[in-house]
Amino acid sequence: MARPRKELSKVPLTPALVNWAEALGDAIGRGVLRAMNQGMPTGGNSNGMAASRRRGRPPKALAGNMVASDRRCTMPDCTREQRSKGLCSAHYQAERRRLLAGGKPA
Ligand SMILES: [Zn+2]
Repeated sequence: MARPRKELSKVPLTPALVNWAEALGDAIGRGVLRAMNQGMPTGGNSNGMAASRRRGRPPKALAGNMVASDRRCTMPDCTREQRSKGLCSAHYQAERRRLLAGGKPA
């Protein structure tokens, strides 16, 4: 037996409704355009990627190898900063590898 179909789209599309929908679409479009033109606001918007913001560790001052002489690696011809036992990280690791390999302390 044929059941009468329920008509869901019976809501009349009045001109006022159409106007409202058009205005809404217009406003959204304008908003998107404005956002694209001036970039995202720099508020707490996790979505906005500020292009000038650098990530990660800030670069060390590369101008000159200015490590105070009393903080410098004790190895000759090494200008890096001491990390441990008077050696820079590179020389300290080299020393450590040497000791682990069975070498004697210098
Ligand atoms: Zn060194």
